[in-house]
Amino acid sequence: MNVSIEKAIELLESGEPVAFPTETVYGLGADAWNPGAIKKVFEIKGRPSDNPLIVHIASKAMVNDFATEIPEAAVKLMDACWPGPLTLIFRKKPEVLDLITAGLDTVALRWPSHALAQELIFRAGPLVAPSANTSGRPSPTKASHVTEDFGNDFPVIDGGATQIGLESTVLDISEQPFRIYRPGFIDKSKIEKITGEEVILQKKNTSGQETRSPGTKYSHYAPEAVVRWLEEGETPDQKNALYLLHSLEGKEDEHHIHYHQNFQQMASELYDRFRQADHQQLDTIIIEPFDERARKEHPITEALLNRITKAVGG
Ligand code: AMP
Ligand code: MG
Repeated sequence: MNVSIEKAIELLESGEPVAFPTETVYGLGADAWNPGAIKKVFEIKGRPSDNPLIVHIASKAMVNDFATEIPEAAVKLMDACWPGPLTLIFRKKPEVLDLITAGLDTVALRWPSHALAQELIFRAGPLVAPSANTSGRPSPTKASHVTEDFGNDFPVIDGGATQIGLESTVLDISEQPFRIYRPGFIDKSKIEKITGEEVILQKKNTSGQETRSPGTKYSHYAPEAVVRWLEEGETPDQKNALYLLHSLEGKEDEHHIHYHQNFQQMASELYDRFRQADHQQLDTIIIEPFDERARKEHPITEALLNRITKAVGG
């Protein structure tokens, strides 16, 4: 159910979660100081309680309500990237609810750039906002995706299709060296340039990763259809399959989507393509792998690779 900003604020203030658009994906917002509202977020999503939430804020001043230490590098990153698709992990203040942080001594903060998100947070206060999908499903990049998962009666502010389409970069600056737990639109080289520090891109199954960012251990982003990589030398002619291609020459039709090296467009459409394939009852989604050159020239392929690998089941 589409709701206005006014209605959304009213609902949030009475402890009800509301879905809203950000530049990355739609978030399921709830008052970051209301434990009852936050519990509802976990219930609605079916989210494991050991998976911490990102607090969404609408000014640098709001950081001080949640974080104790604000390292010099964080100031540089906030100046360069906020508002925007970068989540920063800080040491937390004791009053930040354990429900949000899953008992960790850190808290994840982000100031989104989407105008509707900014207005909502500015007026309703800081909001926890995981992606507004049932846990395990692809994140929503349209209001209709939220309705698909939570039903027609669920309140959502419709802001059209989201621009970036993949979740924010999650960067831990609470300890050195800095670590990226989840790659996103703001990539490693950009962060290194801004901070002047070397940054580690944390890979799955490295020791400590699961306890330091519990969400990364869960399977994510999976449609009903099987997702797999196109094999070397394979002809893209499997029946009942959707092909997502970026470089391979060949036919283009509704089952062969070609991005012509526009990886940003591929990122912004990925989850919608996953969901559409399910609507069309296709049984397989086959994606052209990213070669060395694509990865070098298009840093967004790192984030795409991360999401697709999870959808493939790796
Ligand atoms: P979601 O909001 O569903 O896109 O997921 C939030 C992501 O942020 C998950 O991967 C969490 O593990 C990660 N996250 C949130 N808070 C923290 C934190 N305090 N420390 C490490 N990772 C966090
Ligand atoms: Mg999510």
